[in-house]
Amino acid sequence: MFTEKDDILINEHFEDLLTACKSICKTQADKDMIVEAFNFANAAHRGIRRKSGDPYILHPIAVAKIVVNEIGLGVKSVVSALLHDVVEDTDYTVEDIRLRFGDKIASMVDGLTKMKKAGELAKDNSEQAENFKKMLLTLSDDVRVIIIKLADRLHNMRTLASMPQHKQVKIVSETIYLFAPLAHRLGLYKIKTELEDLSLKYSFPAEYNQITAKLSETESSRSMFIDKFNAPIIERLNQNGIEYEITGRVKSVYSIWKKMQRKQVTIDEIYDLFAVRIVFKPAAVIPEKAQCWHIYSLITDIYKPKPDRIRDWVSIPKANGYEALHCTVMGPDGVWVEVQIRSERMDEIAEKGFAAHWKYKEKMIESKEGELDKWIKEVRDALNSSTENALEFLDEFKLNLYSSEVIVFTPKGDTRTLPKGAIVLDFAYEIHTNLGNKAIGAKVNHKIESLFTEITSGDQIEIITSNTAKPKVEWLNHVITAKAKQAIKSFLKKERENNLKHGMEIFENALKERGVMPEARVFRKLLPAYKCANKDEFYSQLGAGIINLDNLDKILHENTANKLVKYWNLQFFNPLKLFGGNNKNNASTTTTSNNQSYKIAECCNPIPGDEVVGFKDEHGVVTVHKKSCEIAIKQASQRGDTIVPTKWGSEKIMSYLSIVEIRGIDRIGILLDLSQTLTAQLNVNIRKLYIESHDGIFEGYISLYVKNRQDLHTIISKVGNIKGVESVKRVESDPDNANNSNFSSVS
Ligand code: MN
Repeated sequence: MFTEKDDILINEHFEDLLTACKSICKTQADKDMIVEAFNFANAAHRGIRRKSGDPYILHPIAVAKIVVNEIGLGVKSVVSALLHDVVEDTDYTVEDIRLRFGDKIASMVDGLTKMKKAGELAKDNSEQAENFKKMLLTLSDDVRVIIIKLADRLHNMRTLASMPQHKQVKIVSETIYLFAPLAHRLGLYKIKTELEDLSLKYSFPAEYNQITAKLSETESSRSMFIDKFNAPIIERLNQNGIEYEITGRVKSVYSIWKKMQRKQVTIDEIYDLFAVRIVFKPAAVIPEKAQCWHIYSLITDIYKPKPDRIRDWVSIPKANGYEALHCTVMGPDGVWVEVQIRSERMDEIAEKGFAAHWKYKEKMIESKEGELDKWIKEVRDALNSSTENALEFLDEFKLNLYSSEVIVFTPKGDTRTLPKGAIVLDFAYEIHTNLGNKAIGAKVNHKIESLFTEITSGDQIEIITSNTAKPKVEWLNHVITAKAKQAIKSFLKKERENNLKHGMEIFENALKERGVMPEARVFRKLLPAYKCANKDEFYSQLGAGIINLDNLDKILHENTANKLVKYWNLQFFNPLKLFGGNNKNNASTTTTSNNQSYKIAECCNPIPGDEVVGFKDEHGVVTVHKKSCEIAIKQASQRGDTIVPTKWGSEKIMSYLSIVEIRGIDRIGILLDLSQTLTAQLNVNIRKLYIESHDGIFEGYISLYVKNRQDLHTIISKVGNIKGVESVKRVESDPDNANNSNFSSVS
């Protein structure tokens, strides 16, 4: 039950919202509608509390406030945000909303309800990926629906602390996997950044805290540097009578973390921690673009620009609407500094995304909305025509959400925007499926180039075709756009079905000749030997003549004794029990013993001491990944229902495989020193040692069996002390097996 205190709290929050809405309410009717929506939602959620204990209505109020303050949408969006959970969580229907608030609001609330339903925690075993797909299909109705959904997610992320931990894992992975990329695609950079930072805070609290602590520790020296850097710029801008604001901005915690991961460096080794931003007030008569370049010219009079680091999104904005001029210049003390130049209008677009466009020009609304509509249509088309399963589709879709762009020209001079990294073949498919299917090469800027040539902005491309050409499987390894992949896959699928039939015939005959039955046992030997993931792949490759049965006898008689069965003591927590009571002691005793069968994911090779997470498959086998493994994050976002909270126990029973990369200066005897250190001193069991030396440098890797993280650290530091060794670090998987995702050892 609500107390008087609750009511006071609710009213305070709503008054806050009303104040925020002052600027968007043009008439009394606007204000009345917001008040009515609040009264309606407040009554509907009456008596309900959030996990944090707050009255539920504070959540829709907060979402509405984000919608108006942080994104800049209008009255209808505020009303829809207030009502966004009413239909799903209470007895009211969309019809009730329609009667009170009209068609437009009803359809937006309907869209939000559908998205919510689609994205709900999978209650049974329903596929989260399918849910996402459904959710994306609701995109088309009104862009504002997805924006309000993002505001909803943002507030849920801001209040995530009160959620149970394993629910946090799922919400965080969804956010990283889908919502942050969507915010990026819609140009909502500020929201994207906050979503990413919050995700990091909950998934890797130690790393998050370490980075934020470091940032605040270095704040004063950094701001001294920025002042020193800015001083001459300020003087010059003032001399030229430009009205502006200049700020030094630190990169987001998440982007710093990403960079540390990607480059395997510490925060001290990241030199471009911040960027300087100049936001200018446009002078009436001069076009904004000219002013951007004027400021650029003033800055580069002072500091030398890095020639390959100019990004001109003023002449051609990004597809998500972003406009700005970026450059990197050599600042004092030989430090590269990124400078971003924007007008006030561009700045607002950068902060608030598409919504900000609507505010500026009526004309702009049409053109920009048109572009967004086009994109949404593409998403829908791809979803509808997709022959793939939802998981695969989302992978490609996500790739396209994040990539930045190149702009190229057709022979007639029309422009096409493609994601960065796109090749000639992507361009061909972008124009037309048949053009892609028949392509054999291209003239890029009048020079003959292969289909796999990466295209760069400004290229003019003419595709060369042949009537006998057809798509090949390897094309899939080169193209990057969802459109090209889709087209190639659907062509290959047809071809494959024919090959499959043919291959099955060949194989059955071969077995008949040998009097062998096509049992599971046979395939267990065959598939790894032919490097096929499943029977179908084996049949179709056989049918297509890619593989043959020359070695069949040898393979069938080979002894496939287990390579090495590994045992670790892992503890699995039953998520249902965690859900159950609030009793924490109870939860920690629900560990199962070693009865749970599991395997160690070879994509990340977790070892005792690593933070791990498990996923149960349909046979009840748990696959254990490192918490930071990309594949694990993806799976958590798509099949949250399969998450099994997992942690290492204290018992060390056997050793596990780990891979270490080494580099150094080559000298006589280094290999001997290396193997002696490993075997004699450390008593390590080496599985594989691979060293390559060239130009006086040696590099390579060692696969070895050790007991835990501690052991590995000892080895790394001992090896690092060998004369000539420059760097030693752990890598996640064997470079030789990079494409092999089969799990070989199961306990
Ligand atoms: Mn909500």
